[in-house]
Amino acid sequence: MSILITPSEIIEYLYCPRFSYFMFCLGIDQHEDKRFKVQKGREIHKEKSQINKDYLRKKIGVINKEVEVYLASEKFHLKGIVDEVLTLNDGTMSPLDYKFAEYKEKEFKTYKIQSLIYGILISENYNKAVHKGFIVYTRSKNKLLEIEFVQKDFDDLAQTIQKILYIIQKGYYPKKTSSKSKCDDCTFNNICV
Ligand code: SF4
Repeated sequence: MSILITPSEIIEYLYCPRFSYFMFCLGIDQHEDKRFKVQKGREIHKEKSQINKDYLRKKIGVINKEVEVYLASEKFHLKGIVDEVLTLNDGTMSPLDYKFAEYKEKEFKTYKIQSLIYGILISENYNKAVHKGFIVYTRSKNKLLEIEFVQKDFDDLAQTIQKILYIIQKGYYPKKTSSKSKCDDCTFNNICV
């Protein structure tokens, strides 16, 4: 069976490759607070419902949208749920992601990777061109950010996926991160030698 990786698993690898080893090879979870996630989901739903329905159509030329779509690609080893799959008036498609957060530049790279993954999933499943993604920051007056995807983004992501697959398939134990502050704050600190 093909290995399918989620956007958050890729983000975790980029934070520290050993996360992938502990989670995939040893099956150790990070013990995230699931209740918090449910609560967060409800609040996002409430905030999303307050966004004017015509807002996106006017601002970025949306002619169709599907909400909370599960997509998977065996070819790219990816899976995920896209907040909104948009069809634009130029015939291309785009992912749109809501962030229950204020806009902060330092988090942009993470969000861009997520958006890119959703872009690949849409392109694969709908067989349409995807050149950009969108993010709405619900806590910054629904600030809408457009992210252009370039070939290098796709190439970098493909490389990252290959590295994660190598850890999973070979049981490869990657090097520690060089950032001591990440280790000080890490749930795996007591088993990571
Ligand atoms: S303790 Fe450091 S090297 Fe080990 S998993 Fe955590 S962040 Fe990575």
